[in-house]
Amino acid sequence: MIEQVTVYGYISENCFFYIDDESKHGFLIDPGAQADRLLAMIKENGWVIEGILLTHGHFDHIGAVNEIRDTLHIPVIAFERADDYLLSSYANLSSQFNDEILVKDVKYVKEGDEIVLSTNPQFSLRVIYTPGHTTDSIVYYSENDRVLFSGDTIFKASIGNTRFPGGDYDTLVSSIIHKIFTLPEDTVIYSGHSEPTRVGTEKRRYF
Ligand SMILES: [Zn+2]
Repeated sequence: MIEQVTVYGYISENCFFYIDDESKHGFLIDPGAQADRLLAMIKENGWVIEGILLTHGHFDHIGAVNEIRDTLHIPVIAFERADDYLLSSYANLSSQFNDEILVKDVKYVKEGDEIVLSTNPQFSLRVIYTPGHTTDSIVYYSENDRVLFSGDTIFKASIGNTRFPGGDYDTLVSSIIHKIFTLPEDTVIYSGHSEPTRVGTEKRRYF
């Protein structure tokens, strides 16, 4: 089951609960703000969140991480180069709002890693490295469920911006063409700032 929750911090952002229906265990992707609200949802539904997964280190995707981690005592997972953003309020843009949102001590993953749920080995997400929006951008893909959590790499009808630290347009387009458009066309894309879409739908906008 996938529950998309739009949270409201300095800007709005979509975070996602990706939950195994059978065991009620699952993952929380990009909790950007409103930790209390997300924790209440977890409690109400009886979910057991095994890890917080980050698509990249921008402030609007990480604002609720520390509070949720401290409450649930669960690992935070991010790309191996994510500290460039997670430990810098300049690079993660929180300094633009006179805030300092930092996330320390994450568990690193790299291209090709599989994040597997302890209660159901069939329930897993593969890490795909998709630099361009930032140098630490990854997407999480489930082959079984044909779903992709794309962060800010690709949205419905648009792609991530490249004007912030580490952004590069050619790199982003290359990531999208070689890493996302090569996935099955019926894969549903859940992004950080748009309604869901499908790989095939987005591909046809470009080709
Ligand atoms: Zn971003």
